[in-house]
Amino acid sequence: AKRMRLDKLLSNMGFGTRSEIRKVVKQGRVTVDGAVVKDFGLNLDPDSQTVMIDDEKVIYKDTIYVMLNKPQGVISATEDTRDRTVIDLLDPDDQVLQPFPVGRLDKDTEGLLLLTNDGKLAHDLLSPKKHVPKTYEAIVHGDVDASDQEAFAEGVTLDDGYKTMPAKLIIGEKESREDGIYSRITLTIHEGKFHQVKRMFEAVGKKVVYLRRISMGPLALDESLPLGSYRPLTEAELESLQ
Ligand code: URA
Repeated sequence: AKRMRLDKLLSNMGFGTRSEIRKVVKQGRVTVDGAVVKDFGLNLDPDSQTVMIDDEKVIYKDTIYVMLNKPQGVISATEDTRDRTVIDLLDPDDQVLQPFPVGRLDKDTEGLLLLTNDGKLAHDLLSPKKHVPKTYEAIVHGDVDASDQEAFAEGVTLDDGYKTMPAKLIIGEKESREDGIYSRITLTIHEGKFHQVKRMFEAVGKKVVYLRRISMGPLALDESLPLGSYRPLTEAELESLQ
């Protein structure tokens, strides 16, 4: 049988953050198989034991939260007729929990992708009102300079007439190749329009030739994850997202 900590079960099922849950447990508001339990670290089997919080039965459904270092060539979708999807990169044991990607990265974009079956968390992270920051590293064909920094700080007008919100552009190393200068940059945006980073550079006459996401809200890409690999979020990462 599966074993799980009481506080983890309750926070995974959406009853609050771990610290909130611990208070609730200490207040004697949680029962396991009919008896009040004040030990929030109690190990139990969520499939066979009955947990109640304020007389409400806790229905256990397994949740999954993983970070993937997305490689190029796979689609950020759950199904695709032609291409491999990010779901195909997961173990069958994880696929059965029906995770989906939180937001999208282009087929040729690498880096941080969160996958979960927690619809509420996904919804909150993607809400346009929340302006969750997303940071990207890119290689851009062109000499990215202070005028681009100013333009991005102001907002640039995309090909469909949309004016972007202020974004922070950091200019890194430059490299001279046969066909011109290439600039390494880091860009933080607070919205997620279709192909946004590529289109922002198009708006200033430059072309993104490589793109990867390194953070989303409080979540940073684990640099020890090889491309195509994933790991569960840590407790601290999960709590930072709640
Ligand atoms: N912006 C893009 O242009 N592509 C992505 O995949 C993500 C952000």
